[in-house]
Amino acid sequence: MSSSPFSTVAVIGAGTMGHGIAQVCAAAGLSVRLTDVTEAAVQKGLSAVASNLEKGVARGKVSPDDREATLGRLRGSAALAEAVEGADLVIEAIPERMELKTDLLRRLSPMLLPSAVFGTNTSSLSIAEIAAAAPAPERVVGLHFFNPVHIMSLLEVIHHAGTAPEVLTQALAFGAAIGKECITVRDMPGFATSRLGVALGMEAIRMVQDGVASAEDIDKAMVLGYRHPVGPLRLTDMVGLDVRLNIGEYLARTLGNPAFEPPALMRRMVAEGQLGQKSGQGFYRW
Ligand code: NAD
Repeated sequence: MSSSPFSTVAVIGAGTMGHGIAQVCAAAGLSVRLTDVTEAAVQKGLSAVASNLEKGVARGKVSPDDREATLGRLRGSAALAEAVEGADLVIEAIPERMELKTDLLRRLSPMLLPSAVFGTNTSSLSIAEIAAAAPAPERVVGLHFFNPVHIMSLLEVIHHAGTAPEVLTQALAFGAAIGKECITVRDMPGFATSRLGVALGMEAIRMVQDGVASAEDIDKAMVLGYRHPVGPLRLTDMVGLDVRLNIGEYLARTLGNPAFEPPALMRRMVAEGQLGQKSGQGFYRW
């Protein structure tokens, strides 16, 4: 692995994505702080990392020494200022809502090192709009990881028109250093991944709603007929129906394409708390 241009990483949001991002950074030898809005959420994220590593040891993929070293490089704190102090890379993985991300950046502004790079794990939102809330928009880049982060090899690196070339270079070197395969993408809604993946997911939900086939059979069609490793409905469960609903609404609006409009079935499931894997029930029982 190449060496990382960053040595201290703060990860904001310890949910599905944040804990995984913290894990891969710590496993690659970086000093990592994980933060969230409550101490309980931070502890849940740290426990998820410990559990992933435990499974890795059981499967012979992680040595007990590496597990200990990774955990030793990872600290949690619910205090934002403490978590980002001295960080040369700050990555946010908070919910997919523009106002939350811009509000976070405004609050972070006085706490960031002038040289720090800010990476957003947004799945779809405009990097330029997020960057406009930063003290140095040229130091903001999209760092879009995939779920589960410690298993999926892709890192989508998104540069907005004002991202400094050296920041893009650093982001790509960071991706390589933590063992990811990077692609470089322009700042367009949904980038190169969510735009295609969510289009498929929304259509699959509409097909369940229309009674075309069961969720299991629609997924089987894509897995066996198209060689997708996982069907679009199972994947929607893994991502979170709430997360994909937000992405769909944003893409429908910004791309002017009704194919991204969340179907009524999806809205009903989210309203009922059927969010997929994280809530125990979605198109499947988890
Ligand atoms: P999640 O709901 O699992 O976790 C979000 C976490 O952020 C929660 O623990 C929440 O308490 C915390 N949070 C909320 N506001 C905060 C704040 N102001 N400061 C600190 N923490 C805060 O969400 P997720 O699935 O991890 O998604 C996070 C981001 O990653 C979103 O932008 C999403 O689009 C993107 N993403 C998600 C996936 C996926 O498969 N779930 C994949 C790629 C990218």
